[in-house]
Amino acid sequence: MTYRNFSLNQLQEMDAAHHLHPFTDHEDLRAAGSRIISRANGPFVYDTEGREILDGMAGLWCVNVGYGRDELAEVAHEQMKELPYYNSFFRCSTPTPVLLSQRLAEIAPANINQVFYGSSGSEANDTALRLVRHYWALEGKPEKNRIISRNWAYHGSTVAATSLGGMGAMHGQLYGAVPNIDHVMPPYAFELREAGESDHDFGLRAAKAVEDAILEAGPENVAAFIGEPVMGAGGVKIPPESYWPEIDRICKKYDVLLMLDEVITGYGRTGAWFAAERLGLQPDTITTAKALTSGYQPLSALLVGDRIAETLVKKGGEFFHGYTYSGHPVACAVALKNLEIIEREGLVERVRTDTGPYLAETLQARLGGHGIVGEVRSFGLMAAIEIVADKETRKRFPGEGAAASCVRDHAIDGGMMMRAVGDTMILSPPLIWTRETIDMACDRIETALNRAEAELR
Ligand code: PLP
Repeated sequence: MTYRNFSLNQLQEMDAAHHLHPFTDHEDLRAAGSRIISRANGPFVYDTEGREILDGMAGLWCVNVGYGRDELAEVAHEQMKELPYYNSFFRCSTPTPVLLSQRLAEIAPANINQVFYGSSGSEANDTALRLVRHYWALEGKPEKNRIISRNWAYHGSTVAATSLGGMGAMHGQLYGAVPNIDHVMPPYAFELREAGESDHDFGLRAAKAVEDAILEAGPENVAAFIGEPVMGAGGVKIPPESYWPEIDRICKKYDVLLMLDEVITGYGRTGAWFAAERLGLQPDTITTAKALTSGYQPLSALLVGDRIAETLVKKGGEFFHGYTYSGHPVACAVALKNLEIIEREGLVERVRTDTGPYLAETLQARLGGHGIVGEVRSFGLMAAIEIVADKETRKRFPGEGAAASCVRDHAIDGGMMMRAVGDTMILSPPLIWTRETIDMACDRIETALNRAEAELR
């Protein structure tokens, strides 16, 4: 059976009848019908009607090597024929997670040499939460179990990952969060910087909110601080340069572990294998997923620093935790090949020295002055465009999120896939984008902004 035997209407009807989508208003989906993407190649995706759309989101921040990579399909095919599945529980292993772990230890910060696998970023963050609390318990400090996180953080959708995250709407549907997780202000200068406050000072103030939370809880009760180097799903919130060095200093001062969530920033997006490298950090855990396989297979890797790993090995006994698909042989084979492609094509270097700076300049030059743009910002190949009604006062359009949704709809109609988070438009394209692709994206975004402005004013 193939979907080609069905019309778009039939597919939409079956979809509405049987498929509960993630992060979707179900009534709205049933009224409007889903957009069905049926194939993709390079930087483009195509819907069932054959319409070509430039994918500014790399799927969901994950398809770093772009679509249509035969090599990844072939390696999955070979691995499925040789060994489609075996587990890594109870002292078993299979070759591909062994090789992948070795490779990840090579590219991770120097203090990281161990890897724990899952199938999603959410699972990896669950593992990270359990692991840091278990670490302190093994060190004889079970009361040191509070975690400091930030409002607007996104760490996934399981109960633990939602609790770690700082999305108000998600917390509203938790009906009982995992206890002992505190949230502080995010380093979001565009909305939170005070009049006359420099970016530098704002970064220090946002970091001080973390220190205040540690002091309020008592450092003896705080296990770790968790943060995305650049908040992604919360709206590509890029912290001032003063923020991370200060967070690092504070964590060291109070012996609080540093957990980085690099589910988006890992594997090249910021112009380094990991943002930790770019920020000069040696975190105790790094959560990764998405671009580890460029989304071709579901796989996450929690990178575990020596401090935690040594305690786990020497004092731990058995850690009662694992997933059926931890270290899945096919997913790990695809990840190995994907990392090989990223390296062979110099994609990390390209983001750092060419496309990252070019995206920053071009967005600023082409869109920074637009009548409904309050700010453009980027970090490597992640970018945000703030939509405002008034450039001077940064006043937003009425109806929170309505203006950015209007821009997004015009963008998609004009062949440009982007996301809207509140009143912020976000971009996170495949790392294969060239200067020409960036120019094409700017043309399409500019058209969408013009159309939205005409509609909104
Ligand atoms: N952490 C971050 C920073 C993310 O952006 C995401 C997903 O977007 C997750 C965790 C959760 O990953 P997954 O959707 O694979 O569970």
